[in-house]
Amino acid sequence: MVEETAPMSGGCMCGAVRYETTGETFGVTHCHCHSCRKHNGAPVVTLAGYKADQVTFSGDQRSFYESSPGVGRAFCATCGTPLTWEGDGGDLGPILEFHISTFDNPDALVPSSHAFYPERIQWFDVDDSLPRYEGFSEDSPILCHGPADHGPADQDSPPD
Ligand SMILES: [Zn+2]
Ligand SMILES: [Zn+2]
Repeated sequence: MVEETAPMSGGCMCGAVRYETTGETFGVTHCHCHSCRKHNGAPVVTLAGYKADQVTFSGDQRSFYESSPGVGRAFCATCGTPLTWEGDGGDLGPILEFHISTFDNPDALVPSSHAFYPERIQWFDVDDSLPRYEGFSEDSPILCHGPADHGPADQDSPPD
């Protein structure tokens, strides 16, 4: 029996660009990389990834900024909402990583990791126990589970 997954829908703030995804996401990750943070103006960006053939857009065409060769960062030309990272997903083929808060129901997509953890803003961390990767998730070493300040740094506490 084939598992049925309800389609997920989303779009930009003004509603000019809309999208729908079918099937399962291949991964939901908090990305701390400099480029994602810059594109969104946010301290961290949470992404849900889909293969290109799982995605349908409607409404206005999205606009693109090419942040590096072969990588498009899409946004709505009317309201400026950053929508996606789009590029080559290796074995997955062409992929789109959607910014989680553009989904109509982001609660349904639960993150499982942190990517590019060393690039994070130093004052920003989250009190979860998810693995922190050096690069983009499984393609790179795990640095720790949980916030960085749960490690040996506790030894630096002043004595009572
Ligand atoms: Zn818009
Ligand atoms: Zn990133």
